[in-house]
Amino acid sequence: MADHIILRNVTKVFNSKLGDIVAVDNFNLNVHEGECFSFLGPSGCGKSTTLRMIAGFEDLTEGEIELCGRLVSSSKQKLYVPPEERGLGMVFQAFAVWPHMNVYDNVAFPLKIQKMNKTDIDKKVADALKHTSLTGLEKSFPGDLSGGQQQRIALARAIVTNPKVMLLDEPLSNLDPKLRESMRFEIKQLQKEFNFTIIFVTHDQSEAMAISDRMMVCDMGKIMQIDTPENLYNKPVNRFVHNFLGESTFINVVIKNGKVYPKNDMSQAINISIPSDAASEMVVATRPNEIELVKSDATGFKTHIEKRTFLTDRIEYLVSVGEQLVKIQTPHRIRFDRDEECCIKLVSPMWYPVDDEKEQAERARRQVI
Ligand code: ATP
Repeated sequence: MADHIILRNVTKVFNSKLGDIVAVDNFNLNVHEGECFSFLGPSGCGKSTTLRMIAGFEDLTEGEIELCGRLVSSSKQKLYVPPEERGLGMVFQAFAVWPHMNVYDNVAFPLKIQKMNKTDIDKKVADALKHTSLTGLEKSFPGDLSGGQQQRIALARAIVTNPKVMLLDEPLSNLDPKLRESMRFEIKQLQKEFNFTIIFVTHDQSEAMAISDRMMVCDMGKIMQIDTPENLYNKPVNRFVHNFLGESTFINVVIKNGKVYPKNDMSQAINISIPSDAASEMVVATRPNEIELVKSDATGFKTHIEKRTFLTDRIEYLVSVGEQLVKIQTPHRIRFDRDEECCIKLVSPMWYPVDDEKEQAERARRQVI
């Protein structure tokens, strides 16, 4: 499969009064033809800057970008192909539809810019409207339509030029949850019909998981991990990715004489095997639904229920492990009362180094700038 989007050593530095910010730090990325690829990460991690560099709205401090086999940005060669010549479809949150134009004119706009003749424009607009279920609304103005229909106008305008690559930046964020779900499905359907490659930027990890073939998780301008949604969830490379995707339970532990203890409490060991490269202090990570909660077990960690919360589809318990409270989620059939004694077992925990204070400080700085 060909690579439709290639980023080689792409870096973007912004200079501001409060200091330089490396918004994108040496990104290397290959997105395959026909793939739906998401950029995911907290605010300020560099998602939008990367997308803007691909679109051609932002130059590169270092590196180069190739789209469908053509070099479109290169810092070394001082090459910069303007956005309108990159052959991209775009639906950006800020790129709302034009309220003073009717649906037909909104969708026809990119073709008029290309100076296409009226007969061809009519044909292509009719096709784009058909695929976005807007046929019959040609003369309506966006203000008279629902949020979902307005977003479909933006999609129709993006597909009308038949682009090979579609950039979607938080395209569903203004819609209510039910509509978001159906629009997600419609985007995938359009992708199948028109066979374009998608880059999807979102804050919403469950949305990214549902729509993506692969995802890139970034933090503070750095790529943390690129993989399928399943692998990112099941094999996160670090604590940040673990915490970012799905719910996490972390326990700070110390290792002494080959045994694992909750930090600040050596009265009872946790029965788990220790990786060979473990330091004396570590973080043990798991998911709240991957901790076994039983009445008693010789190999389990003995504790009691501190809190019980009914969450319609499951029950959430908090139990103490040393000085820490650990979150567990179980199906309804596993029933414990508050203060009841119990045992917990960590099924397949992952191990991470303890938090780096410098990293925390940099994360806070980036959110202030
Ligand atoms: P969000 O989800 O909030 O949009 P993001 O992950 O898309 O965040 P970017 O918008 O790419 O993040 O920003 C990355 C970093 O670059 C941030 O620290 C941001 O403050 C900084 N930044 C972005 N644009 C500029 C600019 N024009 N001038 C100075 N700094 C900028």
